[in-house]
Amino acid sequence: MPNEKNEKNEKRIKGVIERISGPLVVARGMPGAGMYDVVHVGEIGLVGEIVELKGDLASIQAYEETSGLMPGEPVVCLGEPLSVELGPGIIEQFYDGIQRPLELIEKAANSHFISRGINVPAIDRTKKWKFEPRVKAGDVVETGDVLGVVQETVIVEHRIMTPPGVKGTVREVRDGERTVEETVVIIDDNGTISEVKMLQRWPVRRPRPVTKRLAPNVPMSTGQRVVDAFFPIALGGTACVPGPFGSGKTVIQHQFAKWAQAQIIVYVGCGERGNEMTDVLLEFPELEDPQSGHPLMKRTTLIANTSNMPVAAREASIYTAITLAEYYRDMGYSVALMADSTSRWAEALREMSGRLEEMPGEEGYPAYLGTRLASFYERAGRCIVKGQDGREGSISVIGAVSPPGGDLSEPVTQNTLRVTKVFWGLDANLAYQRHFPAINWLSSYSLYTETLDEYWNDRFDNEWSGLRIEAMSLLEEEDQLREVVRLVGIDALSKEDRMVLETAKSLREDFLHQNAFHEIDTYASMDKQFRMLKTIVRFHHLGMDALKKGAPMNDLFNLPVREQIARMRYLEESRIAGIDELENAMKEQINGLVPDGAAAFKGGETNVA
Ligand code: ADP
Repeated sequence: MPNEKNEKNEKRIKGVIERISGPLVVARGMPGAGMYDVVHVGEIGLVGEIVELKGDLASIQAYEETSGLMPGEPVVCLGEPLSVELGPGIIEQFYDGIQRPLELIEKAANSHFISRGINVPAIDRTKKWKFEPRVKAGDVVETGDVLGVVQETVIVEHRIMTPPGVKGTVREVRDGERTVEETVVIIDDNGTISEVKMLQRWPVRRPRPVTKRLAPNVPMSTGQRVVDAFFPIALGGTACVPGPFGSGKTVIQHQFAKWAQAQIIVYVGCGERGNEMTDVLLEFPELEDPQSGHPLMKRTTLIANTSNMPVAAREASIYTAITLAEYYRDMGYSVALMADSTSRWAEALREMSGRLEEMPGEEGYPAYLGTRLASFYERAGRCIVKGQDGREGSISVIGAVSPPGGDLSEPVTQNTLRVTKVFWGLDANLAYQRHFPAINWLSSYSLYTETLDEYWNDRFDNEWSGLRIEAMSLLEEEDQLREVVRLVGIDALSKEDRMVLETAKSLREDFLHQNAFHEIDTYASMDKQFRMLKTIVRFHHLGMDALKKGAPMNDLFNLPVREQIARMRYLEESRIAGIDELENAMKEQINGLVPDGAAAFKGGETNVA
């Protein structure tokens, strides 16, 4: 064993520092080093990655503060790409961009919270986990098969899988309390012996293999009505959300983390201002998982890069995050990855590119900005993962962008929109009017809507898409009518137009608006959303009809049942069947307004269009 290690050391390529420019270090004398190989820079051994090779010179992005480094100091190439450690202990952890644990949250507040050059293992080497085998000697296993499990947290069962490239017959299983470096299963592939440990490594820039990618035709419901009903995201989907300050971005992310149909949350904060990131680090651990009653951190891992950490680590952080997400996907979980904000990430890319003296593209960002963003978002998806049991896993990615001045035409937003399928346009004006979630229904879109309509139509008697389309067109009509009202006043509108305005208002206030801090309103099941939407649209149909038959408009708008419609959102999930009963109340009250002689509808009759 020691010999092997020496040999490995000797094979390491050693060079010397030629010059240093911020996070960029140029080293000479490293022939044979590979692109993206990890290096240790200087006597102190800062971690870095080779990002450019030109003849004898290697450009290295250092993941740590380079002050104090001197030309002439040694550079050692480890001969392997930047990798993460995978194994039990990732959940509940706070990491930096290259997976070093940020031990104490309080320390995140001050700028030098990580000592430089110290190699802290990402996964605790001393902690023992109870390995419960799922295979026995003689079983034939393939890559991805679950060899055993450990209870990582009260919520998460961590599945130890046959590592990529390994297969064969199980020779030995060692159950019980083990550290991550101890062998738990021995696999024999015609004489090639693999000792599988709970700890594995994987290079961050390489997607982990899957068996088959699946179409994104299953919804990831979030319990947030504006999202699920109008701009839904699929399991394995991608979304972009711009976040002007104060627009409710943080609240939305927390709502998704709590309520989205995802078992694992990976949150990566890229270089937000130091104190903002600290907020996240302090807030997240306080959130409770409403589904289990335990802290949300019991199924979350956090990757934090504040802007007072070196830019290069920021650049790596989103790949670190998605690799961790892939690992849990491979176990068969649905993972939601939230990146906030990818604009800060792109700024890091721009800074490194500038230092490398590359040809700048739009607004100084490198020409490869789009490809890099794509290589991140493309790793989202729903798949059949490796393993003979054919289990399914998914990664859904929600990327926040922070366009300067809210200008969505800037390169990071544009390149993101090119690869993501959903856009939730958070709107500072709506937030100012206290309409939350401040997702603008006119500018937002989801390219999954139609595919997911099929899913919901199956569940809701083919009524879903019709309701959604009608509700959305009422909101669009409202927008146009408001313009008319601005120009010529409300009196210019016909009764029918006034009814449209009234229904659209109801859609906005009674359906789209959702209070994240109200015990019941904070979450709405799809059943509830469907019933609510149906009731509002139904009132519109019945109201239109009654107006035509001469019902007085103001009385119609002030019927007592409207108060009940406004209160639907506060109805507990166990009582939502009550929403259906509103229909009879609606008919009765509206009937009362229609002058005698006009054919009013009778209670129980349902086909009034
Ligand atoms: P940002 O992160 O974009 O700066 P926040 O998420 O902190 O903004 O939201 C700002 C404030 O807006 C919150 O403190 C809260 O009062 C309000 N808010 C945002 N979203 C909601 C919501 N869904 N329900 C109720 N209030 C909300």
